[in-house]
Amino acid sequence: MWIVFIGPPGAGKGTQCSRLVELLGIPHLSTGDMLRDTERDSPLGKVVASYIDVGRLAPDYLVMPIVTKRLAERDCQSGCLFDGFPRTVHQADLLGEFLTERKMRIDAVLHLHVAPNVLVDRLLKRATLQNRKDDNKETITSRLEVYRTQTAPVLEHYRGQGNVLEIDGDQSADRVFADILTALESRK
Ligand code: ADP
Repeated sequence: MWIVFIGPPGAGKGTQCSRLVELLGIPHLSTGDMLRDTERDSPLGKVVASYIDVGRLAPDYLVMPIVTKRLAERDCQSGCLFDGFPRTVHQADLLGEFLTERKMRIDAVLHLHVAPNVLVDRLLKRATLQNRKDDNKETITSRLEVYRTQTAPVLEHYRGQGNVLEIDGDQSADRVFADILTALESRK
């Protein structure tokens, strides 16, 4: 099963993805985590950090090789859960081509929506719990803007294909998870 999770920063994608991968037994592919795993002091890591730390998207020439390398691994042969990818319509097209070449397609797109004011509060709270350099007021504003201008069109792209499932992310994590399961069940 190939699932794409789309939602703004702070919507709770990471939390829900961990639960879902456990249940479905498919790998969790978070491009944010993979990019953050690049050694910060290496030349590549410095380039990656120059985007992430200010809330801009890393360019495709950095993101795509990381994704395709991971997809070539054994555990990803019959599906995975994409978290934070695709984040642009161009990335969605590249993923579409990759899957079509292998005679596969995306089974479901989960859209986790939460109001912007709730997101800012959540991210500022997270900043005090985790040590993420991009969880500060200025960078959060820029990440939300990048989401609105570059990632929201990805949803339209998938809506055109008719496989978007709408999930209300402004509820307890348990309720959100229950809604995700109901939505996935309903499309069978
Ligand atoms: P969040 O959804 O909270 O912003 P992520 O961990 O998904 O957190 O992403 C953190 C940062 O990593 C993004 O702001 C961006 O700089 C970079 N990033 C993650 N995924 C991608 C992607 N698919 N394309 C480009 N940049 C990405």
